[in-house]
Amino acid sequence: MVRHSSGLLCVALDSARADELRLPPMESDGTSGKPTFAVSVDAASGATTGISASDRAHCARLLADPSTRPEDLRRPGHVLPIRVPSNPTPAEYGFAEAATDLCRRAGLPAVALLAVVVDDSGTVASPDQLRSLGAEYGVGLVDCESIAASRFVPTLRKVASIELSGRLGSLRADAYLDTSSGVQHLVIFGSSPGPVSAHLECIPGTIFGSSCCRCRADLDAAVARLHDEGGILVYLRTAQSGQHQEMTLADRAISKALLESLA
Ligand SMILES: [Zn+2]
Repeated sequence: MVRHSSGLLCVALDSARADELRLPPMESDGTSGKPTFAVSVDAASGATTGISASDRAHCARLLADPSTRPEDLRRPGHVLPIRVPSNPTPAEYGFAEAATDLCRRAGLPAVALLAVVVDDSGTVASPDQLRSLGAEYGVGLVDCESIAASRFVPTLRKVASIELSGRLGSLRADAYLDTSSGVQHLVIFGSSPGPVSAHLECIPGTIFGSSCCRCRADLDAAVARLHDEGGILVYLRTAQSGQHQEMTLADRAISKALLESLA
């Protein structure tokens, strides 16, 4: 992990367990955003400087061991814990939550060692580079959206087929009701098979053309692509559309489920 990442190794664990281990958030005023990094740690014994790969592996094992006590850890250190909520909302669900879910589903303690894979130039690895690294080491690849989909399973039902016509031309769309959230999403079809994209509803940007985000321009470009190149646009509605938001893993999971329901 050290060789193929930027060297920053994180350990995601439940925030209640982090409290037991006296690993409070690194920043207490809540402005740091996500993920919630906790105070860094090393193993208090059985390690030397804490920076070597073996010292950090030892520390990660301690964090995953249910019998570890707060005094078994030294602060600050070279491993960065990430606190994950016990029951994350769709908005809170990110890669750290997905990693702990993967451990849980494997029947292991929900504590995950994480690193961002980078290539030789230090750039975050592309999906193709991840696939070849996986093949080299014989490890599987799973995307976070698929893990999110198993937690936030949308129950989708097609409720209408509509014809959208307006300043950008005419397109056919199907409306799907997610019965678990009560929100209706749209799947908009180009006239031929082509690229697939997703857009998250944004009232200030898309409806009122707010200059705070690029949503209006992005949606117009996506609709233009439907005309020029064909394909499918998944238009995701949201329960909190009063402000611009970035697409979450849960949103991507819904988009994936909508596309699968077409197949
Ligand atoms: Zn927006």
